[in-house]
Amino acid sequence: MFEKLSSRFSGAFSALRSRGKLSDKDIEAAVSEIKTALLEADVALDVATDLTGRILEKSREVLPTLQSGTNQAQAIFDVVNQELTEILGGSARRVRFAKNPPTIIMLAGLQGAGKTTLAAKLAKFFKDQGETPLLVASDLQRPNAVNQLQVVGASVGVPVFAPEPGNGVGDPVKVAEAGVKFAQSKFHSIVIVDTAGRLGVDEDLMKEAISIRDAIQPQEILFVVDAMIGQDAVRTAQAFQDGVGFDGVVLTKLDGDARGGAALSIASITGRPIMFASTGEKISDFDIFYPERMASRILGLGDVATLAEQAKKAFDGDSAKRLEDKFVAGEDFTLDDFLEQLEAMAKMGSMGKLLGMLPGAGAMKKQIENFDESEITRTKAIVQSMTPLERRDLKVLNGSRRARIALGSGRKVSDVNALVDKFTAAQKMMKQMRNGGGLPQGMALPPGMALPSGMPMPAAPKKAAPPKAKKSRSGNPAKRALENG
Ligand code: GDP
Repeated sequence: MFEKLSSRFSGAFSALRSRGKLSDKDIEAAVSEIKTALLEADVALDVATDLTGRILEKSREVLPTLQSGTNQAQAIFDVVNQELTEILGGSARRVRFAKNPPTIIMLAGLQGAGKTTLAAKLAKFFKDQGETPLLVASDLQRPNAVNQLQVVGASVGVPVFAPEPGNGVGDPVKVAEAGVKFAQSKFHSIVIVDTAGRLGVDEDLMKEAISIRDAIQPQEILFVVDAMIGQDAVRTAQAFQDGVGFDGVVLTKLDGDARGGAALSIASITGRPIMFASTGEKISDFDIFYPERMASRILGLGDVATLAEQAKKAFDGDSAKRLEDKFVAGEDFTLDDFLEQLEAMAKMGSMGKLLGMLPGAGAMKKQIENFDESEITRTKAIVQSMTPLERRDLKVLNGSRRARIALGSGRKVSDVNALVDKFTAAQKMMKQMRNGGGLPQGMALPPGMALPSGMPMPAAPKKAAPPKAKKSRSGNPAKRALENG
């Protein structure tokens, strides 16, 4: 969502870098360009003015200490990075847990902000950390909200306390109180209370939220806000802050094409950190919000940290170790191994999103958008249509076997041929790497890194794969992220 901002920023910096030693005028011009970019991205005027004021001041402090223009441009870049991180909330804050469980988390926000979806994402997030969350259905206003919570709760395997049918029936304060008592009696460690929103901020909404807050005394009130509504998000946040008060913000729909101003303004205007971000409708489209990673993305540095985390999650330790052992022992990397890797990649989520985390992703937006996600599924189908013998030894693949595989996977024989050719080339490359050709000296093969360079975007996407992804040491972003640590 920050593409435009990113490209304006990179324009400003490449102009600075090409200039040699910088004058005060150059700095002012760059800062003014940054300010225009921020305002165009819908960042609140006060925030943009403060931010660029600080950037100018700090740049003027560091520049005289530096000799070369390149170092100066880099120093300004670093200042911008620090300041962006700062207005996004500094370092990520974690949820405060209650001394005596359960920890109570109340979700507030407008209708349609994504609270119910978020409740399930949050529940899964805590469940994955070994907590035992309970969801409480206190949104008794929005049609179908109770039912929706039950459905999403079931999809993540988290129980839902829903004694009232909703759709205007039932007392949300009583449900919230009873939910907390129920959680205590069943030893749930966390209670997540979904509350009603309205289409706009109104008095009834505030009163209901205040009553729930006073009745259950949550450790955290999280304000859930749709980033796509731009400046309205900031106004709504302020209204909630004045009315109910909250401890942290959850930004939803960060996958949308809004200009990103809300994200950049909200933390500094409300004085509350953005704690989580939701980036799509799927349960997996969710993460802790890391200000420094977001700043890094805005500046076109990518988000390799998140990529590496997702890769580690997707490649389970056993299979990664097994592949590594195979590699070290000099055994061939087979199509079975490849299939395993494809499955792990699929677990990591949308390829488009993963590629978007690479440094310089802004510049290859088109290719990323055109990435054909279903290509991975189609490649899997080809491999799955092979017999175990064929997967182990590609040499047995004569014409009639290839025709059978094409038929079985619903692809053309030329697709099967293309996969076989690429895979054979990759196996060769793998051997070279093992013989000391590929990896830099002293570098061990990290877990899950059995896939050799050029390979993975397996059966290369129909529409041009991003050039950077291909050129790098490993063509697989997951692997590369691991390589980069
Ligand atoms: P609530 O009224 O606040 O409970 O909102 P819901 O959870 O029902 O979400 C409203 C709509 O937004 C639903 O269609 C969700 O699937 C969708 N949604 C929620 N979070 C996101 C997100 O991060 N990205 C996108 N694109 N859609 C989302």
